[in-house]
Amino acid sequence: MKNTIQTLSNKVINQIAAGEVIQRPASIVKELLENAIDADATSIHIIVKNAGKTLIQVIDNGCGMNEKDTEICFLKHTTSKIKKTEDIMKISTMGFRGEALASIASVAEVELKTKKDNEEIGTVINIANSQIKKIKKTAAKKGTSISVKNLFFNIPARKNFLKSDKIELKHIIDTFTQITIAHPNIEFKLNNNENTIYNLASTNLKNRIIHLFGKKYKEKILDVKEETTIVSINGFIGNPLDAKRTRGEQFLYVNNRFIKSGYLNHAIKTAMENMITKEQYPSYFIFLKINPNLIDINIHPNKTEIKFEDEKAIYQILKSCCKRTLGMSHIQPSLDFSIEESFEVPIHIQKSTPKEPKLNINTNFNPFQKETKINKENTENIHKLFDEDEEIVKKVINIDRRYGVFITYDNDINLIDKKKAFERITYEKIKKILNEKKKGKQFVITPIKIDLSFTDIQLLQENIDLFNTLGYEIQSFSDKNIMVNAVPFDFKNENPQEIIEFFVEELKSSKDNINDKLIKKITYQKSINFNIDNEEMLRNLIIRLTKCEIPFIGIDGKPCVINIEPSKIFN
Ligand code: ADP
Ligand code: MG
Repeated sequence: MKNTIQTLSNKVINQIAAGEVIQRPASIVKELLENAIDADATSIHIIVKNAGKTLIQVIDNGCGMNEKDTEICFLKHTTSKIKKTEDIMKISTMGFRGEALASIASVAEVELKTKKDNEEIGTVINIANSQIKKIKKTAAKKGTSISVKNLFFNIPARKNFLKSDKIELKHIIDTFTQITIAHPNIEFKLNNNENTIYNLASTNLKNRIIHLFGKKYKEKILDVKEETTIVSINGFIGNPLDAKRTRGEQFLYVNNRFIKSGYLNHAIKTAMENMITKEQYPSYFIFLKINPNLIDINIHPNKTEIKFEDEKAIYQILKSCCKRTLGMSHIQPSLDFSIEESFEVPIHIQKSTPKEPKLNINTNFNPFQKETKINKENTENIHKLFDEDEEIVKKVINIDRRYGVFITYDNDINLIDKKKAFERITYEKIKKILNEKKKGKQFVITPIKIDLSFTDIQLLQENIDLFNTLGYEIQSFSDKNIMVNAVPFDFKNENPQEIIEFFVEELKSSKDNINDKLIKKITYQKSINFNIDNEEMLRNLIIRLTKCEIPFIGIDGKPCVINIEPSKIFN
């Protein structure tokens, strides 16, 4: 390597900076939208082609720029928003680093057309590779229109890193959603390849949420409001009883800037304790207002993290404010959550051989708190039990709603978790039916309309084969909903909306064993109201359990029957 130090050219400096600011079309959409908002626009129109890879155009009716400004706005560190360091603390605009336009102009071809309200004539300027190619006077409407074409035309490696149009469009929609929620008074339109994706009128926050996520949100969201000296809070939380299996509608803002905070998300979730299960996600649209001196917004333009000086206090205030909202709305959990608890247990037993199972015994089963390990002998006893015929059960005793005991003619004592046993039986039954070649389908007379978000519909469409194998049939897809015209015969009593939401959520994490997860999910649903409270039913349950492929392990991977040998305990 030659050891000669050189100053990098402006072009290279800008491209390096652009690497941080502009990762994908959605980053450009974010910067241009924020500029239009900072320019006090009341109406903003975004047009993208091929998910922004070919074109991103943002048209606003904001303050516009004069000719001199159009020439310098593409230079690095040019901004009209701050003048001195102290301004950074007071900043109320979205941008202030003066970096976005310079970065964009270094990685794409840009045309900017703009006119100030008080001027007769506007300016149009063309820039590529950070160089002004053309600038001239033009007739224009008040405001600014920026077109960004051929993104990464000069950096092929970056261009190759872009994902499919579907994925890039999803990022654009996520960015659009985050920004439009924070500015309900501004009218927004979003088009991709001539299709209107959103057309949002100027309104209040509640209606903006309804326009974005569907009418069902009218009844689903509850007001939150709190004023304290540290923070003021306003916005909405989703009714926990409607909580979804799909993460998605979680929007938190600090001083009108979208942020992500696992810590504050936890505060909201904790407020809903006992109302949502571990597998559900609360939805919220919450705005915090905090004195800017008490926060440290990471000024990196793509970071959505934030540091609060008084994080714990904010956590508590947010939690109690959400709790109060729920209290005032008289929302009561409608399910028996002691049963739902098993949802959080990882599912890991698949087709393992039932010969040498590794059982993790739950020491709670041991009345003397002495560790009882299930050893080989022990599991063999259980096997013996299930290998023989029905007459092995000498006595059964119901302990409570959940547990029972049965004693065999060999005087083996067995504890049974009735719920887990019930789930095992149900699971294997559903699985058997689904594995049969000819699956029963139930066609519905009126197709069932199910509202889903745009991105969830995309995901479902991509994986439709997987879904069809279960026996569902989806008649049509639109941007906002799907029509289901057939459901698997054995799931005809299950709520298809819940199942589809679950399916989509699982797809987001992994496609592995997705059908199995769904069977488990349905099993849990069918088991919620299980009730085995007399001895005859318990005896019957045990007999059915003995016929299972893996009789002694619950579908959560934990034992559903435990064999107790008094001699081992008392020695
Ligand atoms: P920043 O937003 O951080 O100031 P940008 O590079 O995004 O930096 O923009 C540079 C400057 O260009 C802004 O400060 C603003 O004065 C001007 N500008 C950009 N977009 C618009 C717009 N849509 N309308 C009016 N002025 C704009
Ligand atoms: Mg900006």
